[in-house]
Amino acid sequence: MARTPLISGNWKMNLNHFEAIQLLQKLSYELRDHDYDAVEVSLHPPYTDVRSVQTVIDADRMQFQLGAQNCHAEVSGAFTGEISPAMLAKLDVNYVIVGHSERRALFGENNEMVAAKAAAVFGHEMTPIVCVGESLEERESGQAEAIVETQVRGSLASIAAEKLEELVIAYEPVWAIGTGVTASSEDAQEMCSHIRNIVGSMRKGAQQSVRIQYGGSVKPSNVVELMAMADVDGALVGGASLEAESFARIVNYKAA
Ligand code: PEP
Repeated sequence: MARTPLISGNWKMNLNHFEAIQLLQKLSYELRDHDYDAVEVSLHPPYTDVRSVQTVIDADRMQFQLGAQNCHAEVSGAFTGEISPAMLAKLDVNYVIVGHSERRALFGENNEMVAAKAAAVFGHEMTPIVCVGESLEERESGQAEAIVETQVRGSLASIAAEKLEELVIAYEPVWAIGTGVTASSEDAQEMCSHIRNIVGSMRKGAQQSVRIQYGGSVKPSNVVELMAMADVDGALVGGASLEAESFARIVNYKAA
């Protein structure tokens, strides 16, 4: 089955809403209509920028999908400082990253919380990008596959089985995020194939349509090799998505 690659820019806690619009416009200028023919591109600004980015995408008929970096699992309530999936859906957000390793490590998110968020995102007609990945210690001790399997099964546990077909999973080895060190394309392929098999074991046939991104220091110089792997269906990009030219070169990797 042909899966449309998804290239996602995670802006993390960078750019105020003026800077976000500048980056959006520069990025749009760098890309041509045909660049969007073969790939989907999602942008994940900080919450305070989402409305501004949505307005410009709409007004200028840009072909970006709007994304968010996180959300709460509940629709509303006494959760000071949190943003609900209903609020994001109202802003035309399509993709929500859940369980990013920074949220797992710095904000105490566990698989159960990630599973609740992923189900809530689907519940509001958006698609979760569920992040999983092992630490360097776990890889070096030969536990990477087992750790990732536990994360995948745990983080998808609350999702209705048929929704697994529409899901996006980002395999992001923690040791490769923001470090400049990228997993080899063979290691990325091996783990993405492992994840695909796990999803297939949870829902027969879902392995054919679930999209699996690789994330961790993706750059213009390594994207072609990574995207050539059979089970890598896209990239979740942090640092390199903050610079229009480099993100555009990642998006149009097929032209390289
Ligand atoms: C990320 O934020 O998910 C990420 C992979 O960051 P970077 O590309 O900077 O490693």
